[in-house]
Amino acid sequence: MKDFLLLPKGFFRRVLSSCASFLFPSRCPVCDRPVWPPSEKICLSCLKTLKPIRESFCEKCGKKVNAGLRLCSDCTRTEHVFTRSRGAFGYRELSKGMYRYKYLGRREYADVYAKLTYSQLADYIHGCNADMIAAVPVSKKKLLKRGYNQAAELAKGISKLSGIPFSEGALLRVRDTAPMKLLSPSERQKNLKNAFISNVNVVKSKRVLLVDDIYTTGSTMDECSRALLEAGAESVYGLSVASGTGV
Ligand SMILES: [Zn+2]
Ligand SMILES: [Zn+2]
Repeated sequence: MKDFLLLPKGFFRRVLSSCASFLFPSRCPVCDRPVWPPSEKICLSCLKTLKPIRESFCEKCGKKVNAGLRLCSDCTRTEHVFTRSRGAFGYRELSKGMYRYKYLGRREYADVYAKLTYSQLADYIHGCNADMIAAVPVSKKKLLKRGYNQAAELAKGISKLSGIPFSEGALLRVRDTAPMKLLSPSERQKNLKNAFISNVNVVKSKRVLLVDDIYTTGSTMDECSRALLEAGAESVYGLSVASGTGV
């Protein structure tokens, strides 16, 4: 019995947790199979397929651009409402996993997405000097159907890792919008008009880091930023796990 007492603190917890990860490994957000090795949250081989957006990205929206370009073509034409935004990884390699995360109930991916995003963009996240984190909201109807808001789950993870508080009540989606996939940028903007409201008591004079899962044209990020700024936020910075490529 004495020997047990000499074991380092947390030993049994660690043994139990490694047994649990062997018996119930997490599913990989890339291949959706049980993660290998089981102690990880994403297969090491799948991790290598992701494409971090590290250099030659648009200074405004963070999309990957050709070397030497300062802005993507979208940002040379469009004035965004947010101050700037960054995405951690190219969208293509994450697209299937993002679909399962958003529509097929793979809520468990949130942790690993948040960790990967934070490890990739910690300098940016802290450099924004944000007072709080907000998430792009989903409508009540979608929340009931899905059981969770995929952006809020990511925001909670980023909050835990960065120490910046997350406020679930900063933004509210007041009406549902048509699916954005097949809409042009101007149609997207019209579609989202007045879809969000923000709480002045929560955001007034605050620098806000706004989290979403995917950045495509920036229209959702813009409309949420507009609501936050109208409610008195000082500035809005965007953050997403995945981002499209700029041309
Ligand atoms: Zn995998
Ligand atoms: Zn851009």
